[in-house]
Amino acid sequence: IKWTEGRGWHDGQLVPYAPLSIDPANMTLHYAQTIFEGLKAYRQPDGGVATFRPEANAERFQASARRLAMPELPVETFVEACDLLVRQDKEWVPSEGEASLYLRPFMVATEVGLGVRPANEYLFLVIASPAGAYFSGGVQPVSVWLSEEYVRAAPGGTGAAKTGGNYAASLVAQAQAIEHGCDQVVWLDAIERRWIEEMGGMNLYFVYGNRIVTPELSGSLLPGITRDSLLSIAADLGYEVGEGRISVDDWRRQHDDGTLTEVFACGTAAVITPVGSVKSTRASWPVADGAPGPVTMRLRAALLDIQTGHAPDPHGWMHPLGA
Ligand code: PMP
Repeated sequence: IKWTEGRGWHDGQLVPYAPLSIDPANMTLHYAQTIFEGLKAYRQPDGGVATFRPEANAERFQASARRLAMPELPVETFVEACDLLVRQDKEWVPSEGEASLYLRPFMVATEVGLGVRPANEYLFLVIASPAGAYFSGGVQPVSVWLSEEYVRAAPGGTGAAKTGGNYAASLVAQAQAIEHGCDQVVWLDAIERRWIEEMGGMNLYFVYGNRIVTPELSGSLLPGITRDSLLSIAADLGYEVGEGRISVDDWRRQHDDGTLTEVFACGTAAVITPVGSVKSTRASWPVADGAPGPVTMRLRAALLDIQTGHAPDPHGWMHPLGA
């Protein structure tokens, strides 16, 4: 679907996957007006297909567009575009289990020009790719690297938007994590370099027995849809759940005194991943005993059961697209 100044959204079409041709002075290539989303379609027990909370992705896409001075796509248009593609690619939705069809809606500027200002032409696209189960050999805890040198996002920046620049800024820290033998980066706040924000592509949850806390939306972390869903699911399951501030020192101390029983990360790709160990330039420590914890695994199963249609959907999150 195209957007042109003065005309709005027009010319939506379903076309075979093909390369785009790009002018060397395309504004996106230079000034990075690009936003995206990620969501999944799961096969349901009746043979049908359903996407998970596409309206929530559409709303976050609108928020990202506002922050990047791009036009807002109506929620219905976003959802309809995803529906069209899933219906077209239905045979690519895996037949069962945690495997899914991953959808990647995105928007880029298409205007040609070298002036720094919001573009006056954009293109919204959705592409899809089958995604296997994130863990093929059983759920494995990840090891995390606390990034003290780099920050992902600062107050007033673009951290709460899903825009390419945030990910570009993350790559060097992710490479450091790998150099230090860790799987993923954990980002701290930009001002005090003290408060836990999120991981490279996932939000975090801290478990204290029956109490579960996720870092509050500081304005510089991405408001994950999995994070939001788990606030409800954990409450439904009887946990005391909330948002709060957790510092690196809290994390270390609560590990030492045994009050912190589990830590997990959550996002569309991995659903829920246990965090097994933490490392920084100053210290490293396991999370509890480093094995996937019972609360992590219970929440993981509860969310996946809703997504795959094996449990009731009390919040009306599933968007069925028929067989
Ligand atoms: N934080 C970041 C930086 C991410 O890229 C993602 C993945 N979209 C998340 C958190 C988790 O968000 P969601 O649950 O909507 O996938």
